[in-house]
Amino acid sequence: MSIQCPKCQSGLIGTIDAGRKVGSTLGTAAGAAGGAVAAARGAQAGAALGVVGGPVGMALGGIAGALVGGMLGGLTGGAAGASLGGFVDENILDNYQCLRCGHNFSQRQD
Ligand SMILES: [Zn+2]
Repeated sequence: MSIQCPKCQSGLIGTIDAGRKVGSTLGTAAGAAGGAVAAARGAQAGAALGVVGGPVGMALGGIAGALVGGMLGGLTGGAAGASLGGFVDENILDNYQCLRCGHNFSQRQD
């Protein structure tokens, strides 16, 4: 696939990926927030499981459960946000920038 600038026909084209960056950031934040809820549940579950190991087991189980919940939430949200942002980039925004004349354009215009 070769993309050309519609203005100067240069083949030196870069992508902006603004939507992807914003989507990834927002998705990570939303995912981490959702992950915090999961973390609280994970901490409870971990603590419940850790009861077998006494107070130390409860603390470790709680921490492990919280970490796993928060991380999974952040990762899942970030990936979902990035793919959503990529969709916006490709279909709504002018995601391509000519590196020669600076003209912004989207692929569907040509
Ligand atoms: Zn150009």
